Amino acid sequence: AKEQGRCCFKFYSDSLNCRAIERLELEQELRKALQNDEFELYYQPQIDVEKDQIVSVEALIRWHNPKHGLISPAEFIPIAEETGLIIDIGEWVLKTACQQAKLWLDQSGNECRVSVNLSSVQFKRGSLVGFIQTVLEETALPANLLELELTESAIMTDVEENIVRLQQIKALGVGIAIDDFGTGYSSLSYLKKFPISTLKIDRSFITDIDTSADAAAIVKAIIVLAETLNLDVIAEGVETKGQLQILQSFNCSLIQGYLFSPPINANNFEKLLINDLHL
Ligand code: C2E
Ligand code: CA
Ligand code: CA
Ligand code: CA
Repeated sequence: AKEQGRCCFKFYSDSLNCRAIERLELEQELRKALQNDEFELYYQPQIDVEKDQIVSVEALIRWHNPKHGLISPAEFIPIAEETGLIIDIGEWVLKTACQQAKLWLDQSGNECRVSVNLSSVQFKRGSLVGFIQTVLEETALPANLLELELTESAIMTDVEENIVRLQQIKALGVGIAIDDFGTGYSSLSYLKKFPISTLKIDRSFITDIDTSADAAAIVKAIIVLAETLNLDVIAEGVETKGQLQILQSFNCSLIQGYLFSPPINANNFEKLLINDLHL
């Protein structure tokens, strides 16, 4: 038993070490990724199915790591947040997305809005509003063509402070979407207080919409809520025609998901935009 114990302990501690080292390596590589130009933005269209048009696009970061290949943002964004690297990475994302959106606007004349994910770490910084303003000036992107996606948890800490910040962002003309809506704080009273423009219904509800009456009821309630508060509502993670049909029967016409397109690189998105869809 003693032998076995020692063996198990050794195995356990090795695998812990191993994970810690891997994580440290990733962190060190993340520090170099920006200067080595290893990040790329992918773009996923958001479609108005009534108008049969791409109305906006979400920018999603990709990391091409020379050793490990493509690393998912779900894996490295948390590390970037813990280390503070998210500030520089987030600034790069915002600049690149706005530059790209302005290019597409000039090329296609299509007033496609770009949605950029904002980490709570970025949102808390006092310099955020000034930075957004600078990026808009430098890229000459009309402010109404930019939307920022924030999660409920990001805006639910320090509510009073956040309302002021969101009002400043709104004053620039920039839209604000609540990402993963329905998964966070269930208190709805704040919705009226925050100057937001869009609710993004979390993918988990959409996934179950055609198999779970509860999920369908929640989606329906969110759509009615958005209508009542005069907010846009978009369903994310739509993968099947069945899901789309239910959403349409609920009067939700803004859709994002694999059914139309996964996130794709800038060149491929440009083709979609210029060919004006035909999905
Ligand atoms: P998110 O903001 O909720 O983004 C939606 C995620 O769902 C994306 O994953 C997208 O590829 C995926 N998705 C879209 N449609 C479908 C679908 O029909 N089915 C399924 N199964 N998945 C779908 P991705 O690109 O891996 O990003 C994961 C998360 O990483 C994002 O979740 C966001 O929280 C974060 N993230 C991505 N890019 C950035 C960024 O530039 N800045 C920050 N702060 N976070 C980012
Ligand atoms: Ca998002
Ligand atoms: Ca989301
Ligand atoms: Ca998410």
